[in-house]
Amino acid sequence: MAIRNVRKLGDETLETVCRPVKKMTDHLNELIDDMFDTMYDANGVGLAAPQVGVLRRIVVIDVTGEDPYVLINPEIIETEGEQENYEGCLSVPGKMGIVKRPARVKAKALDRNMEEFTLEGEELLARAICHELDHLDGVMYTTKVEGDLEDVNPPADDDEEDED
Ligand code: ZN
Repeated sequence: MAIRNVRKLGDETLETVCRPVKKMTDHLNELIDDMFDTMYDANGVGLAAPQVGVLRRIVVIDVTGEDPYVLINPEIIETEGEQENYEGCLSVPGKMGIVKRPARVKAKALDRNMEEFTLEGEELLARAICHELDHLDGVMYTTKVEGDLEDVNPPADDDEEDED
């Protein structure tokens, strides 16, 4: 268990398409634990492996702090509607921007036992699924922002919301 260094916008690992996971290994299990540690430490709601420099199709998501999901080789299989809201990214600290995403998303993925499951989400969970899966294809949310990327006004403490 360790906190890993989060790559920042401009790092080429963030613009690279990641490879699928064929087999779970101790090494990847450790990576997943570290991804959760790194995400929670930064008050994020999601993190993708390329953000910590590993070009594999793995993301972790937890939008409530109590619903951790590991998605390996995830694919979006259904979307519905549309939502527009601010989005941020741990790889783009201090910034946020408005991004249009589906209102509801259904994804299939493998869990850390390499068993298939589906995850369905609305609102922030739908947004997090889309945002994190984009990372696996080397797509940053900054390329999808409507209007300008804005500065996050830092509150008095480190309680940043919606950063993923
Ligand atoms: Zn991100």
